[in-house]
Amino acid sequence: MSQKLTAVKGMNDLLPPDSYAWVWLEGVVQNVMRRFAYSNIRTPIVEPTALFIRGLGEVTDIVEKEMYSFEDRLNHEQLTLRPEATAGVVRAVIEHNMLYDGGKRLYYMGPMFRHERPQRGRYRQFHQIGAEALGFALPEVDAEMILMAHTLWKELGLKNVKLELNSLGEPDERIKHREALIKYFESHSSILDEDAKRRLHSNPLRILDTKNPAMQELVDGAPKLMDFLGSKSKAHLDAVCSLLDANSVNYTLNPRLVRGMDYYNLTVFEFITDQLGSQGTICGGGRYDYLISQMGGKSAPAVGWAMGVERVIELLKDAALLPNTRGPDVYAVVPESEGLQQVMQVLQNLRDKGVSVQMHSPSVSGNPGSASTAAVAGAVADDRSSRGSMKSQFKRADASGASFALIFGAQELAKGVVTVKSLRDGIGTQREESIAQIDRWASSLQSGD
Ligand code: ATP
Ligand code: MG
Repeated sequence: MSQKLTAVKGMNDLLPPDSYAWVWLEGVVQNVMRRFAYSNIRTPIVEPTALFIRGLGEVTDIVEKEMYSFEDRLNHEQLTLRPEATAGVVRAVIEHNMLYDGGKRLYYMGPMFRHERPQRGRYRQFHQIGAEALGFALPEVDAEMILMAHTLWKELGLKNVKLELNSLGEPDERIKHREALIKYFESHSSILDEDAKRRLHSNPLRILDTKNPAMQELVDGAPKLMDFLGSKSKAHLDAVCSLLDANSVNYTLNPRLVRGMDYYNLTVFEFITDQLGSQGTICGGGRYDYLISQMGGKSAPAVGWAMGVERVIELLKDAALLPNTRGPDVYAVVPESEGLQQVMQVLQNLRDKGVSVQMHSPSVSGNPGSASTAAVAGAVADDRSSRGSMKSQFKRADASGASFALIFGAQELAKGVVTVKSLRDGIGTQREESIAQIDRWASSLQSGD
């Protein structure tokens, strides 16, 4: 046997039955997005490296240490697997002149890539669901965005998700704060770690985003941007707060919340849980009024958020909030191959009526420990009429989780009927249904009779 290939470290396969939870979650999200009138956007996973350097800022964790960047071997372009999606969405919005007739509300779902140390809630390929409202300046859209995420937690059944809010003010306010920060950190330079020393003059705000516990006390005592806000910035924050109050969305103001990218101004926020250890942020976002012009578009304000799907799923799992996986409605037991053409027509008819149908077909075990896989495959291939014993077919039917087995025996087919056996009533009730009127049985299934 040739050597086994494995997935890249920190990048995970998502297999059934776990993938059911993801499909379900995506459905809930799509439903909420529809009700808030956000449209789906899909941008490429690979973008020019320059997009992220310009978009996220050179002195950020992502750009400094986490990007998967490479040179295209053929045309020598510098490319990067997207570490987040806002930069790509903004590029697309500019490239396609999407704001020509006013603001756009968009959402996306998909994989992101960051070279981080893999641990619970932190992976190298992970997934985000995010929303962006572009072209809107007023605080009501910040509130709408937050309300949308809040609605999502509610519909998923998540409790104990806390909202933290801050304002990063405007660039002129940040300049004054920056001076105060540099002065403060300079006077405590002996406590600064390597990252902080490097960032002291290039991007001191970023020091506040440190994950180093030894720096927490120092960071807690640092000058607060909130104290440097002018009346307009304060009014924006107040408006967001009062709209959240009016909708009974609880929050706490956290003056230390700065977020990991440089593009934010005014409102920033995070949804946090204390149930995932140190990877407790499940969603983060804020306003980015200068990013579109910085990326070469006509100046336009915007606000957005992104949530980490793995962390949300983990949280739902811990709280036993994931729905049960469901088997098909029907497992079709087909003892002989003779009537197969008719059987498949009947099954297709059921599927057309919305019934979910799994048809028995003999399969090969790939278990390397079992007898000879090749021999079994060969036997199945040699005897194409062998469909497996009734006993083995019923075993499969049970394992499938189906509600009913439909038994298409030769005698039944000759009479124009099929035997319907309940697999879930505990006693295996059987009755015959006429194939000609199988539609009627299908609709009784749909109505839950
Ligand atoms: P953190 O502080 O945990 O590193 P971040 O500030 O880098 O998060 P954002 O860039 O704001 O994260 O991304 C939004 C969300 O995406 C995060 O709140 C988190 O839920 C999720 N996320 C970010 N990085 C990862 C990762 N490596 N693995 C899994 N989820 C992630
Ligand atoms: Mg990070």
